[in-house]
Amino acid sequence: MGAASERERQAGGTPRAALADLLAGNRRFVSGQPVHGHDVTAAAAASGDQQPYAVVLGCIDSRVPLEAIFDQTFGAICVIRTGGHVLDRAVCGSIEYVVGQLGVPLVMVLGHERCGAVGATVDALRAGVRPGGSLAHLVDEIAPAVLAVGLTDPAVLALAIRQHVRRTVDALRVDDLLAGPVAAGRVAVVGGLYDLATGEVALIDPV
Ligand SMILES: [Zn+2]
Repeated sequence: MGAASERERQAGGTPRAALADLLAGNRRFVSGQPVHGHDVTAAAAASGDQQPYAVVLGCIDSRVPLEAIFDQTFGAICVIRTGGHVLDRAVCGSIEYVVGQLGVPLVMVLGHERCGAVGATVDALRAGVRPGGSLAHLVDEIAPAVLAVGLTDPAVLALAIRQHVRRTVDALRVDDLLAGPVAAGRVAVVGGLYDLATGEVALIDPV
């Protein structure tokens, strides 16, 4: 818990260092050697002011618990989860807060294989039936990624999952309050993909 957790506490770090820390945590998780337990002593140790170094936006899927797959302790990362990591004003406002007020240099959007939200969007588009309620918002936001791949593509689900991560990253890069820090290189928005079977996170595009 020594050097690694102290490094995670540094404020105003670079996007590159933050990404390295996050991916190092995933490697610890994949190797079966996580160093961070989720017990009350870790909670107490982080109970002062928070100084997270990254924010991860992921899916609600129960197989993708973000603190666990990145082997992060209390106070290290902010986590936002929605179905298919779909954006709305609350999500964007939360990321703006973390970046603007807490000085976090890294935003990761994490998709995952066999995403039910993307699958449901493929199904809805094939059937020509838009779901009711707020579920429609998820389908509406994911649909452009599916249509960009094409419903007739045999790999539509896998490709649309990647495309949807890229679209979410692109949308955040031009967000009103994020565009400036991104353009200045103070903040990076990157996309990742989680492999359900191996636990590995791979970057969608090189950074
Ligand atoms: Zn999902």
